[in-house]
Amino acid sequence: SFDWSGELKKRMKRVFGFDSFRLCQEGICNASMDNRDVIAVMPTGGGKSLTYQLPALLCPGTTLVISPLISLITDQILHLHEAGIEACMLTGSASKEEQRSTLQRMTPKATNGRRISAVDGQADGEIKLVYVTPEKIAKSKSFLSVLQKMEKAGTLARIVIDEAHCVSQLGHDFRPDYQKLSILRQLFPNVPILALSATCPPNVLKDLLKVLKMDACVDGNNAPAKGTVYFSSPLYRENLHYKVVPKPASSAAVIETMCNYILENHKDETGIVYCLSKKDAETVAAGLVETSNGKIKTGVYHADIPDARKEELHRRWRKGEVKVVCATIAFGLGIDKGDVRFILHHSMSKSLDGYYQETGRAGRDGKDSDCILYTRNAGDFSRLSSLVCGEKEGQSKLHDMLRFSQDLTECRKIQFAKYFSASSSLSVSVWSKDGSEDLTRCGHCDNCARKPD
Ligand code: ADP
Ligand code: MG
Repeated sequence: SFDWSGELKKRMKRVFGFDSFRLCQEGICNASMDNRDVIAVMPTGGGKSLTYQLPALLCPGTTLVISPLISLITDQILHLHEAGIEACMLTGSASKEEQRSTLQRMTPKATNGRRISAVDGQADGEIKLVYVTPEKIAKSKSFLSVLQKMEKAGTLARIVIDEAHCVSQLGHDFRPDYQKLSILRQLFPNVPILALSATCPPNVLKDLLKVLKMDACVDGNNAPAKGTVYFSSPLYRENLHYKVVPKPASSAAVIETMCNYILENHKDETGIVYCLSKKDAETVAAGLVETSNGKIKTGVYHADIPDARKEELHRRWRKGEVKVVCATIAFGLGIDKGDVRFILHHSMSKSLDGYYQETGRAGRDGKDSDCILYTRNAGDFSRLSSLVCGEKEGQSKLHDMLRFSQDLTECRKIQFAKYFSASSSLSVSVWSKDGSEDLTRCGHCDNCARKPD
Protein backbone atom coordinates (compact mmCIF):
# COMPACT_ATOMS: atom_id res chain seq x y z
CA SER A 1 0.00 0.00 0.00
CA PHE A 2 1.03 3.61 -0.28
CA ASP A 3 0.23 4.64 3.29
CA TRP A 4 3.32 6.77 3.67
CA SER A 5 2.89 8.85 0.52
CA GLY A 6 1.53 11.94 2.23
CA GLU A 7 4.34 12.21 4.72
CA LEU A 8 6.97 11.30 2.16
CA LYS A 9 5.80 13.96 -0.27
CA LYS A 10 5.72 16.67 2.37
CA ARG A 11 9.27 15.87 3.45
CA MET A 12 10.49 15.54 -0.15
CA LYS A 13 9.20 19.01 -0.98
CA ARG A 14 10.63 20.54 2.18
CA VAL A 15 14.09 18.98 2.08
CA PHE A 16 14.78 18.34 -1.61
CA GLY A 17 12.37 20.82 -3.19
CA PHE A 18 10.76 18.27 -5.55
CA ASP A 19 7.01 18.49 -6.22
CA SER A 20 6.35 14.95 -7.37
CA PHE A 21 7.85 11.49 -7.46
CA ARG A 22 9.49 10.13 -10.56
CA LEU A 23 9.16 6.62 -12.05
CA CYS A 24 8.74 4.14 -9.19
CA GLN A 25 10.22 6.33 -6.43
CA GLU A 26 6.92 6.48 -4.58
CA GLY A 27 6.51 2.70 -4.41
CA ILE A 28 10.10 2.10 -3.39
CA CYS A 29 9.89 4.66 -0.59
CA ASN A 30 6.62 3.20 0.69
CA ALA A 31 7.91 -0.36 0.62
CA SER A 32 11.02 0.76 2.49
CA MET A 33 8.92 2.51 5.11
CA ASP A 34 7.12 -0.81 5.57
CA ASN A 35 10.54 -2.39 6.27
CA ARG A 36 10.42 -4.62 3.22
CA ASP A 37 13.41 -5.96 1.33
CA VAL A 38 13.41 -4.17 -2.00
CA ILE A 39 15.15 -4.53 -5.34
CA ALA A 40 14.72 -1.55 -7.61
CA VAL A 41 15.87 -1.12 -11.17
CA MET A 42 15.67 2.40 -12.54
CA PRO A 43 17.56 3.98 -15.42
CA THR A 44 20.66 6.08 -14.89
CA GLY A 45 19.67 9.55 -13.79
CA GLY A 46 16.23 8.29 -12.81
CA GLY A 47 16.59 9.30 -9.18
CA LYS A 48 17.61 6.21 -7.26
CA SER A 49 19.33 8.15 -4.45
CA LEU A 50 16.10 9.75 -3.28
CA THR A 51 14.53 6.32 -2.75
CA TYR A 52 16.74 5.71 0.28
CA GLN A 53 17.58 9.25 1.37
CA LEU A 54 13.95 10.19 1.91
CA PRO A 55 12.96 7.13 3.99
CA ALA A 56 16.22 7.58 5.94
CA LEU A 57 14.99 10.99 7.05
CA LEU A 58 11.58 9.73 8.14
CA CYS A 59 12.76 6.64 10.02
CA PRO A 60 14.50 6.63 13.36
CA GLY A 61 18.02 5.26 13.22
CA THR A 62 20.80 5.28 10.66
CA THR A 63 20.78 4.00 7.09
CA LEU A 64 23.97 2.33 5.88
CA VAL A 65 24.74 2.92 2.19
CA ILE A 66 27.23 0.80 0.28
CA SER A 67 28.46 2.47 -2.87
CA PRO A 68 31.26 1.36 -5.20
CA LEU A 69 33.35 4.51 -5.52
CA ILE A 70 34.72 7.16 -3.20
CA SER A 71 34.11 9.86 -5.80
CA LEU A 72 30.40 8.95 -5.96
CA ILE A 73 30.19 8.99 -2.18
CA THR A 74 31.91 12.35 -1.84
CA ASP A 75 29.47 13.79 -4.34
CA GLN A 76 26.43 12.46 -2.47
CA ILE A 77 27.68 13.71 0.90
CA LEU A 78 28.15 17.18 -0.56
CA HIS A 79 24.55 17.27 -1.82
CA LEU A 80 23.18 15.92 1.46
CA HIS A 81 25.06 18.49 3.51
CA GLU A 82 23.72 21.22 1.25
CA ALA A 83 20.22 19.97 2.08
CA GLY A 84 21.08 20.07 5.79
CA ILE A 85 21.08 16.30 6.26
CA GLU A 86 23.34 14.53 8.77
CA ALA A 87 25.42 12.28 6.53
CA CYS A 88 28.95 10.89 6.95
CA MET A 89 31.34 8.63 5.11
CA LEU A 90 33.75 6.06 6.44
CA THR A 91 36.23 5.96 3.60
CA GLY A 92 39.86 6.78 3.08
CA SER A 93 38.93 10.29 1.97
CA ALA A 94 37.68 11.23 5.45
CA SER A 95 40.37 11.99 8.04
CA LYS A 96 41.15 9.45 10.76
CA GLU A 97 39.72 11.90 13.25
CA GLU A 98 36.44 12.29 11.35
CA GLN A 99 36.12 8.54 10.99
CA ARG A 100 36.72 7.99 14.67
CA SER A 101 34.11 10.54 15.58
CA THR A 102 31.60 9.07 13.09
CA LEU A 103 32.06 5.60 14.55
CA GLN A 104 31.61 6.97 18.02
CA ARG A 105 28.41 8.74 17.07
CA MET A 106 27.11 5.56 15.44
CA THR A 107 27.81 3.41 18.49
CA PRO A 108 24.62 3.24 20.55
CA LYS A 109 24.72 4.84 23.99
CA ALA A 110 22.80 3.51 26.92
CA THR A 111 19.19 4.18 25.97
CA ASN A 112 18.49 6.49 28.90
CA GLY A 113 20.86 9.01 27.34
CA ARG A 114 18.92 9.08 24.09
CA ARG A 115 16.71 12.06 23.57
CA ILE A 116 13.84 11.60 21.18
CA SER A 117 12.62 14.79 19.62
CA ALA A 118 8.88 15.20 19.55
CA VAL A 119 8.75 16.45 15.99
CA ASP A 120 9.85 13.39 14.13
CA GLY A 121 10.72 10.71 16.59
CA GLN A 122 14.47 11.00 16.11
CA ALA A 123 17.30 11.20 18.55
CA ASP A 124 19.04 14.56 18.44
CA GLY A 125 22.08 14.79 16.24
CA GLU A 126 21.60 11.27 14.93
CA ILE A 127 23.53 10.47 11.75
CA LYS A 128 20.87 9.66 9.16
CA LEU A 129 23.13 8.21 6.46
CA VAL A 130 26.53 6.56 6.61
CA TYR A 131 28.32 5.75 3.33
CA VAL A 132 31.00 3.10 2.91
CA THR A 133 32.59 1.20 0.02
CA PRO A 134 32.13 -2.60 0.04
CA GLU A 135 35.75 -3.03 1.14
CA LYS A 136 34.73 -1.74 4.55
CA ILE A 137 32.24 -4.57 4.99
CA ALA A 138 34.67 -7.13 3.58
CA LYS A 139 37.66 -6.05 5.64
CA SER A 140 36.78 -4.16 8.82
CA LYS A 141 35.76 -6.35 11.74
CA SER A 142 35.56 -3.38 14.09
CA PHE A 143 33.09 -1.69 11.75
CA LEU A 144 30.93 -4.82 11.62
CA SER A 145 30.91 -4.96 15.39
CA VAL A 146 29.63 -1.39 15.58
CA LEU A 147 26.89 -2.36 13.14
CA GLN A 148 26.02 -5.31 15.34
CA LYS A 149 25.69 -3.07 18.37
CA MET A 150 23.46 -0.80 16.35
CA GLU A 151 21.24 -3.67 15.29
CA LYS A 152 20.83 -4.77 18.89
CA ALA A 153 19.90 -1.23 19.92
CA GLY A 154 17.53 -0.94 16.98
CA THR A 155 19.36 1.98 15.40
CA LEU A 156 20.39 0.31 12.13
CA ALA A 157 17.42 1.29 10.01
CA ARG A 158 18.26 -0.11 6.61
CA ILE A 159 21.12 -1.34 4.40
CA VAL A 160 21.29 0.09 0.91
CA ILE A 161 23.39 -1.51 -1.82
CA ASP A 162 23.90 0.88 -4.71
CA GLU A 163 25.00 -0.45 -8.13
CA ALA A 164 23.91 -3.84 -6.84
CA HIS A 165 24.62 -5.64 -10.12
CA CYS A 166 28.32 -5.52 -9.07
CA VAL A 167 27.42 -8.40 -6.75
CA SER A 168 26.95 -10.82 -9.62
CA GLN A 169 29.65 -12.48 -11.62
CA LEU A 170 27.13 -12.64 -14.43
CA GLY A 171 26.91 -8.84 -14.48
CA HIS A 172 29.28 -6.68 -16.45
CA ASP A 173 30.88 -4.88 -13.53
CA PHE A 174 31.56 -7.68 -11.08
CA ARG A 175 33.50 -6.63 -7.98
CA PRO A 176 34.78 -9.35 -5.65
CA ASP A 177 34.25 -7.18 -2.57
CA TYR A 178 30.58 -6.89 -3.46
CA GLN A 179 30.21 -10.64 -3.22
CA LYS A 180 31.28 -10.48 0.40
CA LEU A 181 28.15 -8.46 1.11
CA SER A 182 26.35 -11.78 1.52
CA ILE A 183 27.51 -11.59 5.12
CA LEU A 184 25.11 -8.73 5.75
CA ARG A 185 22.01 -10.89 5.72
CA GLN A 186 23.73 -13.45 7.92
CA LEU A 187 24.72 -10.88 10.52
CA PHE A 188 21.61 -8.72 10.31
CA PRO A 189 18.70 -10.96 9.37
CA ASN A 190 16.14 -8.41 10.49
CA VAL A 191 17.49 -5.28 8.85
CA PRO A 192 15.78 -4.58 5.52
CA ILE A 193 17.95 -4.40 2.42
CA LEU A 194 17.40 -2.09 -0.54
CA ALA A 195 19.35 -3.08 -3.66
CA LEU A 196 19.56 -0.53 -6.50
CA SER A 197 20.74 -0.89 -10.07
CA ALA A 198 20.28 0.50 -13.55
CA THR A 199 21.12 -2.73 -15.35
CA CYS A 200 19.79 -5.96 -14.08
CA PRO A 201 18.67 -8.55 -16.62
CA PRO A 202 16.88 -11.63 -15.24
CA ASN A 203 19.92 -13.85 -14.71
CA VAL A 204 21.80 -11.13 -12.82
CA LEU A 205 18.73 -10.44 -10.72
CA LYS A 206 18.38 -14.08 -9.76
CA ASP A 207 22.03 -14.27 -8.85
CA LEU A 208 21.76 -11.07 -6.86
CA LEU A 209 18.86 -12.43 -4.82
CA LYS A 210 20.91 -15.52 -4.10
CA VAL A 211 24.15 -13.77 -3.12
CA LEU A 212 22.40 -11.22 -0.92
CA LYS A 213 20.16 -13.93 0.51
CA MET A 214 17.07 -11.94 -0.19
CA ASP A 215 13.98 -14.15 -0.10
CA ALA A 216 12.24 -14.43 -3.36
CA CYS A 217 8.50 -14.32 -3.05
CA VAL A 218 7.20 -17.57 -4.37
CA ASP A 219 3.67 -16.72 -5.21
CA GLY A 220 3.52 -13.84 -7.62
CA ASN A 221 0.62 -11.97 -6.03
CA ASN A 222 0.78 -8.25 -5.91
CA ALA A 223 2.39 -7.03 -2.73
CA PRO A 224 2.17 -10.18 -0.65
CA ALA A 225 2.92 -9.80 3.02
CA LYS A 226 6.42 -11.22 2.89
CA GLY A 227 9.43 -11.50 0.66
CA THR A 228 11.40 -9.15 -1.52
CA VAL A 229 9.54 -6.51 -3.44
CA TYR A 230 10.79 -5.84 -6.94
CA PHE A 231 10.38 -2.56 -8.77
CA SER A 232 11.45 -1.70 -12.26
CA SER A 233 10.70 1.24 -14.44
CA PRO A 234 11.11 1.45 -18.19
CA LEU A 235 14.77 1.74 -19.07
CA TYR A 236 14.07 3.64 -22.25
CA ARG A 237 15.52 7.14 -22.43
CA GLU A 238 14.09 9.09 -25.28
CA ASN A 239 16.98 11.53 -25.62
CA LEU A 240 19.39 8.72 -26.58
CA HIS A 241 19.50 7.97 -30.29
CA TYR A 242 20.86 4.52 -31.07
CA LYS A 243 22.47 3.52 -34.34
CA VAL A 244 24.54 0.58 -35.56
CA VAL A 245 26.98 1.35 -38.37
CA PRO A 246 29.15 -1.08 -40.36
CA LYS A 247 32.85 -0.60 -39.61
CA PRO A 248 35.20 0.06 -42.55
CA ALA A 249 37.78 -2.61 -43.28
CA SER A 250 41.02 -0.85 -42.38
CA SER A 251 41.72 0.58 -38.98
CA ALA A 252 42.80 3.92 -40.49
CA ALA A 253 39.46 4.16 -42.28
CA VAL A 254 37.59 3.53 -39.02
CA ILE A 255 39.41 6.41 -37.38
CA GLU A 256 38.74 8.68 -40.32
CA THR A 257 35.03 7.79 -40.23
CA MET A 258 34.83 8.56 -36.52
CA CYS A 259 36.82 11.76 -36.93
CA ASN A 260 34.50 13.02 -39.68
CA TYR A 261 31.45 12.03 -37.70
CA ILE A 262 32.63 13.95 -34.64
CA LEU A 263 33.64 17.08 -36.53
CA GLU A 264 30.41 17.15 -38.54
CA ASN A 265 27.96 16.33 -35.78
CA HIS A 266 29.55 17.07 -32.44
CA LYS A 267 32.28 19.62 -32.96
CA ASP A 268 33.67 20.80 -29.60
CA GLU A 269 31.20 18.61 -27.75
CA THR A 270 31.94 15.99 -25.10
CA GLY A 271 32.00 12.29 -25.92
CA ILE A 272 33.49 8.89 -25.21
CA VAL A 273 34.90 6.34 -27.66
CA TYR A 274 34.80 2.87 -26.10
CA CYS A 275 37.45 0.45 -27.35
CA LEU A 276 37.99 -3.23 -26.71
CA SER A 277 41.65 -3.12 -25.70
CA LYS A 278 44.11 -0.70 -24.15
CA LYS A 279 46.04 -0.74 -27.39
CA ASP A 280 42.92 0.13 -29.40
CA ALA A 281 42.21 3.03 -27.06
CA GLU A 282 45.74 4.38 -27.54
CA THR A 283 45.63 3.93 -31.30
CA VAL A 284 42.22 5.54 -31.73
CA ALA A 285 43.16 8.48 -29.50
CA ALA A 286 46.37 9.16 -31.40
CA GLY A 287 44.52 8.70 -34.68
CA LEU A 288 41.77 11.18 -33.80
CA VAL A 289 44.32 13.83 -32.83
CA GLU A 290 46.31 13.33 -36.00
CA THR A 291 43.41 13.05 -38.43
CA SER A 292 41.67 16.11 -37.00
CA ASN A 293 44.92 18.11 -36.89
CA GLY A 294 44.48 18.53 -33.16
CA LYS A 295 40.95 19.91 -33.54
CA ILE A 296 39.54 17.10 -31.40
CA LYS A 297 40.84 17.48 -27.84
CA THR A 298 41.41 13.84 -26.99
CA GLY A 299 42.43 11.86 -23.91
CA VAL A 300 43.12 8.18 -23.19
CA TYR A 301 41.89 6.14 -20.24
CA HIS A 302 42.51 2.49 -19.39
CA ALA A 303 43.68 0.31 -16.52
CA ASP A 304 47.40 0.82 -17.21
CA ILE A 305 47.27 4.61 -17.03
CA PRO A 306 48.85 5.68 -13.71
CA ASP A 307 46.38 6.93 -11.09
CA ALA A 308 47.74 10.46 -11.10
CA ARG A 309 47.18 10.72 -14.85
CA LYS A 310 43.69 9.25 -14.53
CA GLU A 311 42.76 11.91 -12.01
CA GLU A 312 44.27 14.59 -14.21
CA LEU A 313 42.21 13.36 -17.14
CA HIS A 314 39.01 13.31 -15.09
CA ARG A 315 39.70 16.87 -13.96
CA ARG A 316 40.44 18.19 -17.45
CA TRP A 317 37.43 16.37 -18.84
CA ARG A 318 35.12 17.89 -16.26
CA LYS A 319 36.55 21.34 -17.04
CA GLY A 320 36.06 20.76 -20.77
CA GLU A 321 39.77 20.91 -21.66
CA VAL A 322 39.56 17.34 -22.92
CA LYS A 323 36.47 16.67 -25.02
CA VAL A 324 36.74 13.09 -26.24
CA VAL A 325 38.02 10.27 -24.09
CA CYS A 326 39.11 7.09 -25.86
CA ALA A 327 38.81 4.39 -23.26
CA THR A 328 38.29 0.80 -22.30
CA ILE A 329 35.38 -0.01 -20.01
CA ALA A 330 37.67 0.91 -17.12
CA PHE A 331 36.32 4.42 -17.76
CA GLY A 332 32.93 3.85 -16.24
CA LEU A 333 31.29 3.97 -12.87
CA GLY A 334 31.37 7.42 -11.41
CA ILE A 335 31.30 9.43 -14.58
CA ASP A 336 28.95 12.17 -13.55
CA LYS A 337 29.30 14.58 -16.46
CA GLY A 338 25.87 15.65 -17.64
CA ASP A 339 26.67 16.89 -21.13
CA VAL A 340 28.14 13.80 -22.78
CA ARG A 341 26.67 14.22 -26.28
CA PHE A 342 27.91 11.06 -27.94
CA ILE A 343 29.16 7.56 -27.15
CA LEU A 344 30.92 5.77 -29.98
CA HIS A 345 31.74 2.08 -29.74
CA HIS A 346 34.83 1.12 -31.69
CA SER A 347 33.65 -2.46 -31.38
CA MET A 348 30.72 -4.17 -29.73
CA SER A 349 30.61 -4.75 -25.99
CA LYS A 350 30.80 -8.15 -24.36
CA SER A 351 27.12 -8.04 -23.50
CA LEU A 352 24.02 -5.91 -23.97
CA ASP A 353 24.19 -5.12 -20.26
CA GLY A 354 27.57 -3.56 -20.82
CA TYR A 355 26.44 -1.78 -23.96
CA TYR A 356 23.37 -0.34 -22.25
CA GLN A 357 25.38 0.83 -19.25
CA GLU A 358 28.16 2.35 -21.36
CA THR A 359 25.79 4.23 -23.64
CA GLY A 360 23.78 5.27 -20.58
CA ARG A 361 26.55 7.72 -19.75
CA ALA A 362 25.32 9.95 -22.56
CA GLY A 363 22.75 12.68 -22.06
CA ARG A 364 22.32 12.60 -18.32
CA ASP A 365 21.21 16.24 -18.63
CA GLY A 366 18.23 15.06 -20.68
CA LYS A 367 19.40 16.61 -23.96
CA ASP A 368 19.63 14.72 -27.26
CA SER A 369 22.69 12.49 -27.55
CA ASP A 370 23.94 9.87 -30.00
CA CYS A 371 25.03 6.30 -29.34
CA ILE A 372 26.74 4.74 -32.32
CA LEU A 373 28.01 1.21 -32.50
CA TYR A 374 30.62 0.63 -35.19
CA THR A 375 30.81 -3.05 -35.85
CA ARG A 376 32.34 -5.60 -38.11
CA ASN A 377 30.10 -8.33 -36.80
CA ALA A 378 32.16 -11.41 -37.60
CA GLY A 379 35.51 -9.82 -36.77
CA ASP A 380 34.37 -8.25 -33.49
CA PHE A 381 32.61 -11.40 -32.50
CA SER A 382 35.58 -13.70 -32.90
CA ARG A 383 37.86 -11.30 -31.01
CA LEU A 384 35.39 -11.03 -28.16
CA SER A 385 34.62 -14.71 -28.26
CA SER A 386 38.23 -15.59 -27.54
CA LEU A 387 38.17 -13.16 -24.61
CA VAL A 388 35.20 -14.82 -22.95
CA CYS A 389 36.17 -18.31 -24.01
CA GLY A 390 35.03 -21.17 -21.84
CA GLU A 391 32.39 -19.16 -20.03
CA LYS A 392 29.04 -20.46 -21.15
CA GLU A 393 27.13 -17.53 -19.73
CA GLY A 394 29.59 -15.12 -21.33
CA GLN A 395 29.19 -16.71 -24.74
CA SER A 396 25.43 -16.52 -24.57
CA LYS A 397 25.59 -12.83 -23.59
CA LEU A 398 27.93 -12.20 -26.47
CA HIS A 399 25.43 -13.85 -28.81
CA ASP A 400 22.72 -11.50 -27.55
CA MET A 401 25.03 -8.56 -28.28
CA LEU A 402 25.74 -9.90 -31.76
CA ARG A 403 22.04 -10.35 -32.42
CA PHE A 404 21.44 -6.72 -31.45
CA SER A 405 24.13 -5.45 -33.78
CA GLN A 406 22.91 -7.61 -36.67
CA ASP A 407 19.23 -6.83 -36.26
CA LEU A 408 18.39 -4.18 -38.79
CA THR A 409 14.62 -4.12 -38.36
CA GLU A 410 13.47 -4.24 -34.75
CA CYS A 411 13.42 -0.92 -32.89
CA ARG A 412 16.42 -0.65 -30.52
CA LYS A 413 14.19 0.36 -27.62
CA ILE A 414 12.12 -2.80 -28.06
CA GLN A 415 15.24 -4.95 -28.27
CA PHE A 416 16.54 -3.54 -24.99
CA ALA A 417 13.13 -3.86 -23.35
CA LYS A 418 12.82 -7.52 -24.28
CA TYR A 419 16.34 -8.28 -23.14
CA PHE A 420 15.97 -6.62 -19.78
CA SER A 421 12.40 -7.57 -19.01
CA ALA A 422 12.54 -9.65 -15.88
CA SER A 423 8.88 -10.35 -15.40
CA SER A 424 8.70 -13.68 -17.16
CA SER A 425 11.14 -15.88 -15.32
CA LEU A 426 11.22 -14.56 -11.80
CA SER A 427 9.62 -15.47 -8.57
CA VAL A 428 9.81 -12.04 -7.01
CA SER A 429 6.67 -10.02 -6.71
CA VAL A 430 6.44 -7.19 -9.15
CA TRP A 431 4.84 -4.39 -7.28
CA SER A 432 5.21 -1.26 -9.25
CA LYS A 433 2.62 1.03 -10.67
CA ASP A 434 4.50 1.93 -13.79
CA GLY A 435 6.92 -0.88 -14.29
CA SER A 436 5.81 -2.25 -17.59
CA GLU A 437 7.88 -1.57 -20.66
CA ASP A 438 6.09 0.24 -23.42
CA LEU A 439 6.60 -1.80 -26.56
CA THR A 440 5.75 0.81 -29.16
CA ARG A 441 8.59 1.75 -31.48
CA CYS A 442 10.76 4.66 -30.38
CA GLY A 443 10.61 6.26 -33.81
CA HIS A 444 14.12 7.68 -33.74
CA CYS A 445 16.69 4.86 -33.74
CA ASP A 446 18.39 3.62 -36.90
CA ASN A 447 15.90 0.80 -37.38
CA CYS A 448 12.90 3.08 -36.96
CA ALA A 449 14.42 5.53 -39.41
CA ARG A 450 15.06 2.85 -42.02
CA LYS A 451 12.29 2.72 -44.58
CA PRO A 452 10.57 -0.66 -44.70
CA ASP A 453 11.58 -2.58 -47.85
P1 ADP B 1 20.50 7.66 -10.35
O1 ADP B 1 21.23 7.26 -9.11
O2 ADP B 1 19.24 6.88 -10.56
O3 ADP B 1 21.36 7.64 -11.57
P2 ADP B 1 20.27 10.21 -9.02
O4 ADP B 1 19.73 9.70 -7.75
O5 ADP B 1 21.70 10.61 -9.06
O6 ADP B 1 20.00 9.17 -10.21
O7 ADP B 1 19.32 11.40 -9.48
C1 ADP B 1 19.50 12.07 -10.70
C2 ADP B 1 18.98 13.51 -10.61
O8 ADP B 1 17.55 13.55 -10.52
C3 ADP B 1 19.50 14.24 -9.39
O9 ADP B 1 19.96 15.51 -9.80
C4 ADP B 1 18.29 14.38 -8.49
O10 ADP B 1 18.35 15.53 -7.70
C5 ADP B 1 17.13 14.43 -9.48
N1 ADP B 1 15.84 13.94 -8.94
C6 ADP B 1 15.63 12.80 -8.27
N2 ADP B 1 14.34 12.63 -7.95
C7 ADP B 1 13.68 13.71 -8.43
C8 ADP B 1 12.29 14.14 -8.42
N3 ADP B 1 11.33 13.38 -7.86
N4 ADP B 1 11.99 15.31 -9.02
C9 ADP B 1 12.97 16.05 -9.60
N5 ADP B 1 14.28 15.71 -9.65
C10 ADP B 1 14.65 14.56 -9.08
MG1 MG C 1 23.08 6.57 -8.48
